[in-house]
Amino acid sequence: MKRFLKSGLVVLFLLLMLFGGMTLHTVSQSQHYSRLVNYVGIVRGATQRLVKLELMDQPSEPLIEYLDGILKELETGDGEYGLPLPKDSNYQQKLAGLSAMWEEMKVQISAYRNGLDDGTTLLSLSETYFKQANDTVFAADEYAARCIQGLNVICIVMLIIMLLTWLFIIWAYWKKLLHLEDTNQKLNDLARRDTLTGVYQLDAFKEEAQRYLDAGHDGKIAFVYTDFSDFKYINDVFGYAYGDSILKRYGEILNRLVGEGELCGRVSADNFVLLLRYQDREEVAARQREADTEIIRFMHSSHNRQSVPTCCGICCVEDVVEDLRIDGFLDRANFARKTVKNGTHSNYVFYDESIRNRLREEKNVESSMLAALENHEFTVFYQPKVELGTGKIACSESLVRWKSQSGSIIPPDRFIPVFERKYMIDRLDQYVFEEVCRFLNGRLKAGRRVLPVSVNVSRLQFFDQNFVKRYVEIRNHYQIPAELLEIEFTESIAIDNTSLLTSIVDQLKQAGFSCSIDDFGKGYSSLSLLKTLPIDVLKIDRFFFSESNDPERDMAVVQGIVELVHKFNIRTVAEGVESESQVEMLKQIGCDYVQGYVFYRPVPQAEFERMLDGQE
Ligand code: C2E
Ligand code: CA
Ligand code: CA
Repeated sequence: MKRFLKSGLVVLFLLLMLFGGMTLHTVSQSQHYSRLVNYVGIVRGATQRLVKLELMDQPSEPLIEYLDGILKELETGDGEYGLPLPKDSNYQQKLAGLSAMWEEMKVQISAYRNGLDDGTTLLSLSETYFKQANDTVFAADEYAARCIQGLNVICIVMLIIMLLTWLFIIWAYWKKLLHLEDTNQKLNDLARRDTLTGVYQLDAFKEEAQRYLDAGHDGKIAFVYTDFSDFKYINDVFGYAYGDSILKRYGEILNRLVGEGELCGRVSADNFVLLLRYQDREEVAARQREADTEIIRFMHSSHNRQSVPTCCGICCVEDVVEDLRIDGFLDRANFARKTVKNGTHSNYVFYDESIRNRLREEKNVESSMLAALENHEFTVFYQPKVELGTGKIACSESLVRWKSQSGSIIPPDRFIPVFERKYMIDRLDQYVFEEVCRFLNGRLKAGRRVLPVSVNVSRLQFFDQNFVKRYVEIRNHYQIPAELLEIEFTESIAIDNTSLLTSIVDQLKQAGFSCSIDDFGKGYSSLSLLKTLPIDVLKIDRFFFSESNDPERDMAVVQGIVELVHKFNIRTVAEGVESESQVEMLKQIGCDYVQGYVFYRPVPQAEFERMLDGQE
C-alpha cells in the first residue's frame, strides 16, 4: 500500500512537471505569436505610410530599411525583434507572397522617384500589397489562435492532473488517517482485553454491554454466564499451565462464537460472560452448547484426557420485568447458572419466573438474616447416627433450621450460602454450637443420657485465628466434656491451603474435639490428606448411595475407602443411606455408622430427646 502510494505520487508529480513545462513553453510561444501578428500588422501599416510619404514626395529610407528588417526576420527568424518562425504553410505562403510584393513595391518606388511612374501604378500596387498584408495578418492571427487553443487544452489537462494529484494526496492522507485511527482503536481494544484469554476484561465488557443496552436494540439480547464446574480440580491435579491453556482455548472459542454486535468478557478465573443476540432463545443455548462441546473435545484431546463440565446461566433481557442495568442482568444470569450446579440435568438454565422467585427469596434472606439471628429464629435439629455393630444410636449431627416468623421451616441450603457470601456464617455456626452446648448442658445437669453431637463448621471459619479459642470458651462456659463434641468440616479448604487445615485440625485435637471430614467423595477428594491429617471420622458422601448406574461399583469404592481409612484408625460414617440393602452391604464392608433416612431423619430437639430417653 505504502509503495503504491509513493509510486502513484511520483507518477503524478512527473506528469505535473511535464505539463507545467509544456504550459510555460506554450505561454511563451503564444507571446511570440501575438508579437508576430503585431509585426505583420506593422508591415501592413508602415508600407501604407511609406507609399503615402512617397506620393507626398517625402521619401523615407529608414522606413524602407525598417520594413526590410522586419520582413527578413519574418522569413528567416533572424533579427532583433524576437519574432518566431511558424511552421504554418498558409502563413508561409502568404508571407512569401508579401515579400515578393515588397520587392516589387521597392522597384515601383524607385520608378516613381525617377519619374517613370506618375504614382498611379505605385498606388494600385500598394492596394494589392495591402490586401496581401491583410491576408498575412489573418494567417498569422489564425495560427496564433490555434496555438492558444492548444494552450487551453494543455491548461485543462494540467488542471485535471492537479486536481487528481490533490485528490490522490487527500485520499492517501485520509487512508493513512483511517489506518491510524484503526490502529489506535485496535490498540485501545487490546488494552481492554484479558491477556490470557483475549476476551474483554469485565469492566470493558460491562461498559460496552451497557452501551448496547442504552442504544436500544432491534434484536433480542441475552446475557450468558459460564463457569467450569470444579476447575480447581484441573489446576490442582494437572497444574496451572494446563488450566491456563484450557482457559485460553475457551477464550478463543468464545471470541469466535460472538458476531457483530455481540460481546464476550471474563469475570474471573473460569467465569466468562457473553452478550448474544437471538431470534429464538433456543439459539442461545445451542450456540453455547457448541462452544462447550468444543472445549470438552479440546480437554479430551489433550494428553491428560480429563475434562470438567461447564455450566451456564442465560438471562434474556425480555424475561426481566425490572428496569435493570448491566450488573443486574449479569447477576441474574449468574444466579441462573448456580441453579445448574444445584442438580439440574442440563448444563444450562434460563433465568425465569421460578429463578426470579428464588432470587427474591435470597434477597429476603439477605435482608432478614441478621434480625433472625438476634430473634433466635434459628433452631437445631438432630439426626442420629446409628452404629452398625449394635444397631443403636451412637451419636448425632446437629443441623440448623430457620423457623421463620410465618412458622415455616426453611432448610439450610436456602440460607447457608447467603450467610457464607455475606461472611456471617461464623455467627450462625457459633449460634448452633452454643445451642448444642446448651442442650447437652441441660441434659447433663438433669443427669440424663447424652451422646456425642457433631456440629458443622464452615470452611470460612478456618481463616479466623480465634476460631478454636472461641469454641473452647463456649464449651467451657457450658462445661461440656470434650469427647461429647465433634467438629465436621469439608476438606475443600485443603485445596487452597493444606497447611492451614492441618494447623486448625491440630489445634482442635489439642483442645480435645473430635474431628471429622464431611462429604468425602463429593467433588474430588484426596486420600493422601487422610494420612497426614489427625482426623477421627470420615463421612462418606451420600453421592455413593444415591441412585446410580453402577451401585456395585460405588459400593466397591466405599469398601476401598473404609478399609483404607481403618488402617489409619479413622472411623467411617455413611451419609444419606436410604435403603436396607445398602445398610446390609455397609455392615459387611465394615462401615462403622450410618446416618440416613433409612434409620432417622433430622428431628427437632424435643423429639431427639425422646429418642435418647427411650433408648436408655
Ligand atoms: P451435611 O453436613 O452433609 O448434612 C447432611 C445432610 O444430608 C442434611 O441435610 C440431612 O438432612 C441430609 N440427609 C441425611 N440423611 C439423608 C438421606 O438419607 N437422604 C437424603 N436425601 N438426605 C439425607 P440438611 O439438614 O438439609 O443440611 C444440608 C447441609 O447444610 C448440610 O449438609 C451442611 O453442609 C449444611 N448445614 C446444616 N447445618 C449447618 C450448620 O449449622 N452450619 C453449617 N456451616 N452448615 C450447616
Ligand atoms: Ca455435616
Ligand atoms: Ca455431609
